[in-house]
Order: sequence, then structure tokens, then C-alpha cells
Amino acid sequence: MRIILLGAPGAGKGSVAGLLKEKHPVRQISTGDMLRSAITAGTELGRTAEGYMKRGELVPDSLIMGIMEHRLAEPDCKEGFILDGFPRTIAQADGLKHILGRLGIRLDAVVNLEVPREVLIRRLTSRRTCSNPECQAIFNIYTRPPRVEGVCDNCGGKLVQRDDETEEAIAQRLVIYGEKTAPLIDYYRGDPAFISVDGMDANAVVADVEKAVAKRK
Ligand code: AMP
Repeated sequence: MRIILLGAPGAGKGSVAGLLKEKHPVRQISTGDMLRSAITAGTELGRTAEGYMKRGELVPDSLIMGIMEHRLAEPDCKEGFILDGFPRTIAQADGLKHILGRLGIRLDAVVNLEVPREVLIRRLTSRRTCSNPECQAIFNIYTRPPRVEGVCDNCGGKLVQRDDETEEAIAQRLVIYGEKTAPLIDYYRGDPAFISVDGMDANAVVADVEKAVAKRK
């Protein structure tokens, strides 16, 4: 299974990827997680990316393409992958097309998750993320609360609200999504792998994705 998940911040890309991973031999490749790990590790990439991320802006395409070029060529991607949060601009989608062409990979599905704006905002402001960089599990104070408030069920790490999940940063991320990322829907619309699905229920999305992938086989 080789798929792209498209959708606004909070559309549920991470949750859908998590469910697909439980059922299929695929790697979840989240550029957001990779950048957060780089920040924690204090690498040059992390230091450059941090300011953009805190402000809710996109990290420059050249940096993202640099990491994805390597990541997609790694052997564990051979079995399959889910791109979560990449591409986010037309330039990244063009770059991805070249990388996949070089690697001889055909996408099984490009999935756009449709979720109303008020739901996106509610989901993002109620999200809590495990601060342990090895874990990064995601909880929701309403729909998926941890057993103990503020503590990760998986590793006991401290749960935090991400800097880019404050009201201000979220408003900014949604503006940038509209300007830079939403145009990808039209970019991929003519592609036979493209589907657009209701993103309210992650399990229903998984079923839609499996159906679309089976059709392409
Ligand atoms: P995410 O966890 O996918 O919501 O990403 C968090 C933040 O990381 C975004 O708001 C951007 O600042 C940055 N980021 C993640 N993926 C990309 C990407 N493909 N292109 C540019 N910036 C990205």
C-alpha cells in the first residue's frame, strides 16, 4: 500500500495512518514527526525548522525535499508507506512525482480527508501529545483521554499541548493550509488514484482507502 493522506491540520491524517498501520505492512512517514524529532535531537534541521513550526508556517520546500528524498529511498519503504503531512505545496508534489518516478513507484491512493473547519479547530485545541520524542502518542481531552490526566498511557511521558496548537497558531496554520496546501486537491483531482472522503470517522476512512487500493490492484 502506497498512499498519500491529504487534509487540513486536524483532519485526522495521523489517526487514519495509525489504524492503517495496524492492519497493513506500511510505514507511516510523517514530516511533522520527523521535524519534531530533529528539534528534540537539536540537529541543524531542527534548529532551522523550529521557528517556522512555532509560528504555524511551513518549513521551506528545499529542507522538506532533502529529508524526503532520503526517507523514501530507505529499504523499509519498499513494503509500503503512508505519507502523512507531505506533500504540502505544489512544489513538494512536483518533487515527489520525480522521486517516485526515479524509484519506479506508483501510488495506490491519494486520499483527501474532508472535515468542517469548526471540527478541525475543536480537534486541534483539545489535542495533547506525548512529549517523549520516542513515543509522540496523541490523545484528546474529550474523545481519547489518557487514563491519568496529563500522563501518556503508553510510556508514562508528560502530555503537552504543542506550541503550534494554541488558538493563534492554529488560525495561522489554517490560513496557510488554504493558501498553500488546499490547491493540491485540484493538482491530484485528475489522477486515477485520487479520492476525496468524509473524514469525520477514521474507521470509515480506512474502509474507503482499502476499497480504493483494492480497485487499483
Ligand atoms: P504536522 O504535524 O503534520 O501538523 O506538522 C507540524 C508542522 O511541521 C507544520 O505546521 C509545518 O510547520 C511543519 N511541516 C510538517 N510537514 C511539512 C511539510 N511537508 N512542508 C512544510 N512544513 C511542514
